[in-house]
Amino acid sequence: MGLMYSSTRNSDVKMTASQAILKGLADDGGLFVPDSIPALDVSLDELANMSYQETAYAVMKQFLTDFTEEELKNCINKAYDSKFDTEEIAPLVQADGAYYLELFHGSTIAFKDMALSILPHLLITAARKNEVKNDIVILTATSGDTGKAALAGFADVEGTKIIVFYPKNGVSPIQEKQMVTQKGDNTFVVGIHGNFDQAQTGVKMMFNDTELKAEMDKAGYQFSSANSINIGRLVPQIVYYVYAYAKLYANGEIAKDESINVVVPTGNFGNILAAFYAKNMGLPIGKLICASNENKVLFDFFSTGTYDRNREFMLTSSPSMDILISSNLERLIYRIAGNDAAKNADLMKALTSCGKYEISEDMKAQLSDFYGNYSSEQETAEVIKNLYDKTGYVIDTHTAVAVGVYNKYKADTKDTDTKTVIASTASPFKFTRSVMNAIDTKYDAMSDFELVDELSKIGNVDVPNAIEEIRSAKVLHDTVCEVDEMPAVVKKFLGM
Ligand SMILES: *Cc1c(COP(=O)(O)O)cnc(C)c1O
Repeated sequence: MGLMYSSTRNSDVKMTASQAILKGLADDGGLFVPDSIPALDVSLDELANMSYQETAYAVMKQFLTDFTEEELKNCINKAYDSKFDTEEIAPLVQADGAYYLELFHGSTIAFKDMALSILPHLLITAARKNEVKNDIVILTATSGDTGKAALAGFADVEGTKIIVFYPKNGVSPIQEKQMVTQKGDNTFVVGIHGNFDQAQTGVKMMFNDTELKAEMDKAGYQFSSANSINIGRLVPQIVYYVYAYAKLYANGEIAKDESINVVVPTGNFGNILAAFYAKNMGLPIGKLICASNENKVLFDFFSTGTYDRNREFMLTSSPSMDILISSNLERLIYRIAGNDAAKNADLMKALTSCGKYEISEDMKAQLSDFYGNYSSEQETAEVIKNLYDKTGYVIDTHTAVAVGVYNKYKADTKDTDTKTVIASTASPFKFTRSVMNAIDTKYDAMSDFELVDELSKIGNVDVPNAIEEIRSAKVLHDTVCEVDEMPAVVKKFLGM
């Protein structure tokens, strides 16, 4: 019997890994969690000699037990290939006493690529295993970044189509250009006259429209989601922590079983949860350092035991972390509640109805693996400048939030010796203006592409393909619609 998955809100729901990936979210609104976290079954010496792809197999086979070796290796090899601009896939860079785990070498130069380049293949394999005959249609609403990463992941994947809705006047010019130039016959991009919430609501309404569902089925289609709470996005994220540890060991930076700390710039709590799962697989991780920006709900939660989303939403220079509900935290809450689905469901109900909940002292005591703190906008900018002045290494705003919090951690705990890996979640070229302004305000006068060239010069790094491409790329998508026209647009794309 393989590893089964149940809902964080109902333990009676039991699914195989492939069923959980296909379904995404449980019908009761809960997230799928493995009944236990499997241990790594390869030694550190074996891991030390493995490529990224081999490490991915060693980790993922423990979780996705109903995939055959051939199926899983096929998914891994299709995902982690020349789409990444470095053979290592996730290289480690040492700077100023820490190790930066660069998770931004994929097609959209941010860490979402680590999971979204493999999810389409896992989804298609899962569909075949479960005898789904329909083509899978991915519907996504995006405020900018996830849409492009999902488009890049699903482009030209057989048996899938992807339709992305974005607010026509609500994304940056670079983000829009990235999306509307997307290649692939199975990709569709639509601007809506409305904001992100309206796009999101429109998508949710289509997911829940039973009439549309029946029509789609007749035409040979069914909807699915590439949402960040899909277990098929979480599991691939465990891989790079194992890989980083093994590389540190292989390079003689750490001794066997030496404990390391991990710092993660956090929004939806997916990336840091993957590190927590890695620790629970047996990887010697000491502290999991959770870094927030000025939307510091998680810092307050770790300090007080109360999660409270009732507060002003701040727009920061690290927009991918501008989040007040960290969805993946539910998987941690479920676990520290002793895998008690009823208890977790009560807390989540309180979050929906009052916007907050408080955990018990017992539960709080189990959070000792974590340290939480936050960086202000000013601290974030200072970190970028200081690191650049000291070492010449340029980091993006999200990674800088993590470094700011790592500095506070060292000051608070005096733990300055433990080797530390910082998850570097985006290329500085993705947030060029904020990064360059942090280094010197004189750059603010330059245009976006002038800034790109200047960053390449001062940081001594090549302009990534993802940016180079959009300079001259042709616009391939020009559909714009009203919010209430979204279902009609979908039908038209699908020839229904
Ligand atoms: C999504 C994202 C994050 C936050 O990751 P979570 O898994 O949502 O916590 C951090 N940095 C960047 C650049 C991101 O795109």
